Amino acid sequence: MKALEEKIIREGTVLPGDVLKVGSFLNQQVDTVFLKEMAKETARLFADKPITKVLTVEASGIAFATAVAIELGVPMVFAKKHPSANVSGAQYAAPVYSFTHKTTYMISVSRDYLTPNDKVLVTDDFLANGNALKGLISIVEQAGATIAGCCAEIEKGFQGGGDELRKQGYQVESLAIVESMGDGEITFRR
Ligand code: 5GP
Repeated sequence: MKALEEKIIREGTVLPGDVLKVGSFLNQQVDTVFLKEMAKETARLFADKPITKVLTVEASGIAFATAVAIELGVPMVFAKKHPSANVSGAQYAAPVYSFTHKTTYMISVSRDYLTPNDKVLVTDDFLANGNALKGLISIVEQAGATIAGCCAEIEKGFQGGGDELRKQGYQVESLAIVESMGDGEITFRR
């Protein structure tokens, strides 16, 4: 999505450790008009899939997942990262290694919100090594539901997670794929 690439160039900052900071429109402040454009484009890319739910992980995946779910007219479900007093009953759970926090945490979803009939679009804000999406895929599989596809706003192609999932046969759509960002210069996959 050309407009997203231009926004990343204009507003993104490359931090040490291959972290792209896009707090001005995606990770802290949310450009809601642009979010809607990204969600429309994502819904278009999966138009031929009978999606029944959009699944993400808290917290930074929620805005995009909600916008996509609104476009598709289906519920959005988010996996919780921490044990919570609000969570009771049986859960599906999977370990996820966090690229940004360098630690492994458990994500969980109540068994009430995923059924074997669901066709699930799994999504996150960023796709790097693919650990977050793999954890979500595991949860969908535990529920006996079907993966309709995977998507992210920004994929860092050089970290390989997206291509690994594509090789496994999943439809993976990222609205911008960063090919490299050495020396602060950001280039995109063509
Ligand atoms: P993965 O699990 O694919 O390795 O990494 C994706 C997760 O790590 C996302 O949930 C995202 O929040 C975070 N992440 C990975 N790389 C970046 C990055 O360059 N910038 C930001 N803001 N988050 C990232």
